[in-house]
Amino acid sequence: MTIYAISLRTIQKGHWIPRERRSRGQEPFNSRCLKMHSEMKKVYDEVIARDPNQPEFHQSVEEVLQSLGPVIDAHPDYLPAVKSVVEPERIIQFRVPWYDDEGNFHVNRGFRIQMNGAIGPYKGGLRFHPSVNQSILKFLAFEQVFKNSLTGLPLGGGKGGSDFNPKGRTESEVRRFCQSFMMELWRHIGANLDVPAGDIGVGRREVGFLFGMYRKLANEFTGVLTGKGLSYGGSLIRPEATGYGTVYFAREMLSTQNKSFEGAKVAVSGSGNVAQFAVEKVIDLGGKPVTLSDSSGFIHDSDGIDREKLAWVMDLKNVRRGRIKEYAEHFGCDYTETKPEPNLNGLWGTDVDIALPCATQNEINGEEAQMLVENGCIAVAEGANMPCTPEAVECFHENGLLFAPGKASNAGGVATSGLEMSQNSLRLNWTREEVDRRLEEIMVNIHRNAVDTASKYGMEGNYVAGANIAGFLKVAEAMEAQGHI
Ligand code: NDP
Repeated sequence: MTIYAISLRTIQKGHWIPRERRSRGQEPFNSRCLKMHSEMKKVYDEVIARDPNQPEFHQSVEEVLQSLGPVIDAHPDYLPAVKSVVEPERIIQFRVPWYDDEGNFHVNRGFRIQMNGAIGPYKGGLRFHPSVNQSILKFLAFEQVFKNSLTGLPLGGGKGGSDFNPKGRTESEVRRFCQSFMMELWRHIGANLDVPAGDIGVGRREVGFLFGMYRKLANEFTGVLTGKGLSYGGSLIRPEATGYGTVYFAREMLSTQNKSFEGAKVAVSGSGNVAQFAVEKVIDLGGKPVTLSDSSGFIHDSDGIDREKLAWVMDLKNVRRGRIKEYAEHFGCDYTETKPEPNLNGLWGTDVDIALPCATQNEINGEEAQMLVENGCIAVAEGANMPCTPEAVECFHENGLLFAPGKASNAGGVATSGLEMSQNSLRLNWTREEVDRRLEEIMVNIHRNAVDTASKYGMEGNYVAGANIAGFLKVAEAMEAQGHI
């Protein structure tokens, strides 16, 4: 195993300087708003004035509002919908008290953001991570509104979670925490009201503990959570769906340029749910995944991560709950330690054709994007939510890369959650092939919708604009029809 310090070689070449240098999502992006339609700029300024300390939320709102100028020119009657869509319908914040195994008392903060229910019950995951706060959950809930609309399913947008850190906690501590969390959340959710799922730190184990407590408190068995185990209403392919969907979307994007995954070297970040199944689908399509990461560092396996190695990673991460460094020790490849922001993540300096960021928000900044460009990367599809900063996206667009925003490319997870809800309502279980077929069809449709919408509004090839506009139009129409309440 080799342990590297992060190489800055591509930066030292120095022919790309970001327009504005800022730490990852720490400040409002006022200067970028110069490009914004004047009505959108007013909405954005109000968002910042109302909640000046929510940088991640500002970032996601800015990106959407920048796309909506042509829509407002064509449909001035949708302006009230723009003003409403940036304000959550409801924010629930609550105390989560629990005891650890030694009998020490802890209090965490729990949240549920019910962002927009115009087209269906609120739907979106729960995140357990120490960084969780209102800004991060509002950005995630906001993204979810447009993503859910894009799936074509009747799903509103929401998100929730807690600043609880599950890392290093025993199973009984996690169970106790989940039960305490649900003691409050249960009164705010329901199969026709708000249907949470997993996200960072919330996998099948946690969904099981949460569902059990909901069932006890509500005294009913309904599809109130998705991502459930197969023995109690879960759907086949739900664990795979976000990673598979991201790769299906990237495949569609590549095919517009007569390219494919066949023989392509692929950088994947993260090593959790989304990353694992993105790697699996890349292998299925003939590509060669060469990286994986966690919050401590990343591995670079130039021989490629094959099915056998992936099975080992799944056991490491899902059963033994170990660190990705152990992969390098076991298989004898390179490992690089990464320090928390704002250091550069050398993972994006590896020589790859395609990049799939699948860990967390703002994990590729402008400099890291430039590393990918200089190494000849041709396509980036976001498996995580907002993993690319605005400078990174700008760099990809300026250099002609295919770029898929998460609200389109990672929508397969929530789409399959929607399929889980349908199966629960019908009291049926579809086969693996049936769910995968529907997932693939949904991803192909989202891709087509994003392409067509971008073209219609004069932004051909811009998946960000296409996804934002297509997602917004359906929600805006529903909001207008319902009287903007
Ligand atoms: P997991 O918790 O299963 O995995 C997250 C991975 O990302 C882990 O490897 C984790 O490392 C790493 N990670 C998390 N935070 C950081 C950080 N701050 N810095 C570096 N690495 C980090 O989560 P998921 O795979 O479910 O989710 C990943 C992303 O995909 C998130 O952005 C999520 O919102 C998004 N997403 C997930 C969906 C789903 O169905 N699960 C659906 C749509 C989007 P470590 O273990 O060290 O923390």
